[in-house]
Amino acid sequence: VRHLVLVLGDQLDEASSAFDGFDASQDRVWMAEVAEESTHVWSAQQRTTLFLSAMRHFAQDVQARGWPMRYRPLDDPDNRGSLAEELMLAINELRPQTLVLTAPGDWRVLQALRAVARASGVPLDLRDDRHFYSTVRDFTAHAQGRKQLRMEFWYREMRRRHGVLMEGDQPAGGQWNFDADNRAAFGKGGPPTLPDPTRFEPDGITQDVMALVRQRFASHPGQLDHFGWPVTRTQALQSLDAFVRERLPHFGQWQDAMWEGEVWLFHSHLSAALNLKLLNPREVVAAAEAAWRSGHAPLTAVEGFIRQILGWREYVRGIYWTQMPGYLDGNALDAQAALPAFFWTGDTEMACLRDALTQTLRHGYAHHIQRLMVTGLYTLLLGVKPQAVHAWYLAVYVDAVEWVELPNTLGMSQFADGGLMASKPYAASGQYIKRMGNHCPGCRFDPAQSTGAQACPYTTLYWDFLLHHQAMLANNPRMGMALKHLDRLDGDQRAAIRQAAQAHRVDVGAAG
Ligand code: FAD
Repeated sequence: VRHLVLVLGDQLDEASSAFDGFDASQDRVWMAEVAEESTHVWSAQQRTTLFLSAMRHFAQDVQARGWPMRYRPLDDPDNRGSLAEELMLAINELRPQTLVLTAPGDWRVLQALRAVARASGVPLDLRDDRHFYSTVRDFTAHAQGRKQLRMEFWYREMRRRHGVLMEGDQPAGGQWNFDADNRAAFGKGGPPTLPDPTRFEPDGITQDVMALVRQRFASHPGQLDHFGWPVTRTQALQSLDAFVRERLPHFGQWQDAMWEGEVWLFHSHLSAALNLKLLNPREVVAAAEAAWRSGHAPLTAVEGFIRQILGWREYVRGIYWTQMPGYLDGNALDAQAALPAFFWTGDTEMACLRDALTQTLRHGYAHHIQRLMVTGLYTLLLGVKPQAVHAWYLAVYVDAVEWVELPNTLGMSQFADGGLMASKPYAASGQYIKRMGNHCPGCRFDPAQSTGAQACPYTTLYWDFLLHHQAMLANNPRMGMALKHLDRLDGDQRAAIRQAAQAHRVDVGAAG
């Protein structure tokens, strides 16, 4: 074998750089399903199923092309259980001259595969991941000489460089960012009639994988009954098409809104297909821009959507690869509490949190504001150790791959990087959640109260968070308003809040 072309579970793209120059007469594709990828965090059943099913479908396509392949299923009795050991075995059997790999999404995986290449003495040809608009080198160049990194400047650079939503050298509509028009709540009547979610009945391959996952990872979190994610490129393209037709015109407007029991709202649900590389961000961005140019969707919606992909998605990848491996250890707020066990079951009386956790375990999905301002806000305020929060997010979402999950969790949501990702902690009381959805009226807690039997834990913990971090946050100009409100609390009120917060921590099993 000349080239052994390594394809990982999040590299399911036949146009990937690893396939450049592939010669079926002397090269071979290598893929392996290994238990380690489902156990290094406690991977939820939906997430593992999605990865394995998409891998098997991709392998089928590759083989249909007539490309020779070595594919190791998870249930092969000889399976060694880790990428490194499986690769070593393949090298010993196939004696390739070179290993070819498109840069992987996980720092950990890159180290492991590099170590195998070194140990076996086979050179590793590591290629840029063309899936992304930018390279890590582009990001490094952008970051150089800047005192502060902000997504907005990166996003503008990307818009200009790739000619997205541009009119000459000016942004379309005369503005880079229409966020001020977004972020509305639904109001009392709730969301307008929602389009049906785009779901796919599990086919034979997916059903086999579901049976395997149920048996092999029986104790792992989440349920499989509602599995309907796209597992092929064809399905992913159908999802994109349906999103652009049915949801994109309203994207943005209600981007931050929540509604009890409504999982899908006007979001795209394309993150998993993008992260597995079933979809290319360029085709997603082009479809959105075309919808604006044809008059199908307003610029506010289209710009908001494109910013998530061309801006945020590329930005967090740059942060990850320029900050690893140290980024993993960040804990700027010195948070040490344990993650409450109900994060794995949804069993809590807090209505907003129960709703977000329940749908997460049922579908492997929650939208951004649920992740940031319900689950993430709660662990931030509770003071959960960021590494435990990271392990949870990486485990439960179908779109969770470390390069994108880690900066969002550790940086944006938990402020554990001390402000690299976010200019201030995303701290808020229960009043924010009340404003953005309809969970509070039916909840046994009252977001207006910080102490007493009806006190909303979010509100209690919010004031406790400000009290606890007052000195550190005082240096942050964006926290001035919030800290000013602390002045209104007298000594007794402060003590009562601290006591209520501590009682809550003990109650949920988070106290040290
Ligand atoms: P939409 O709202 O429709 O957005 C469109 C696309 O933009 C998404 O599909 C995604 O590819 C991209 N995008 C949007 N926001 C972000 C962002 N902040 N960072 C990077 N890309 C973004 N996203 C993941 O893909 N994987 C993760 O593991 C992940 N973990 C997160 C953890 C936390 C604590 C938070 C706050 C956010 C996380 N996100 C993650 C970002 C974001 O919440 C999801 O991308 C989004 O909710 C996916 O749903 P969607 O496809 O309907 O997104």
